Amino acid sequence: MMDIEDICVFLCGILYDGMAVSIKILCVLCQWTWGVVQNIVGLLVFLVTLKNKHSIFRCAVVTHWNHPYSMGCGMFIFKGDHGYAHYSDERNEKINHDVLVHEYGHTVQSLILGPLFVPVIAIPSLLWASIPYFDRLRSRRGLSYYWLYCEKWANLLGDKVCGNIREKC
Ligand SMILES: [Zn+2]
Repeated sequence: MMDIEDICVFLCGILYDGMAVSIKILCVLCQWTWGVVQNIVGLLVFLVTLKNKHSIFRCAVVTHWNHPYSMGCGMFIFKGDHGYAHYSDERNEKINHDVLVHEYGHTVQSLILGPLFVPVIAIPSLLWASIPYFDRLRSRRGLSYYWLYCEKWANLLGDKVCGNIREKC
């Protein structure tokens, strides 16, 4: 279990992982001012899931959990396992990396949209992911989960920022 000192070190650790420290400081400042609402929600979920494994990805704190889905909330990403038993480890690794990059796209959306992130991205995304009607609609019309504008945009932003080549959309 992490104590408060571990949490501080961990959250500060985001500033020392690959990218230029000045850019990271700017990103974190921007998240905690312009995008503060979604970051408070993300921090609360992070605190509730403290016992899980965590890592840093660029300017985001990643919590690895056992749910079959992932989500991005400001500088906090909550990552499920998206692998398939019949796929090779290498392919599952790529699928999971693509999901992580997608969620990082939501982190970038939070930087761009700030207070508009919740109405423009979070609410439509949550409804698109959780309402059974939309699940049936995707099946019936053969639509990808990433068909919806906020999801497609997260892929585009994440791939661009991370230099990722997505396996499928
Ligand atoms: Zn998404």
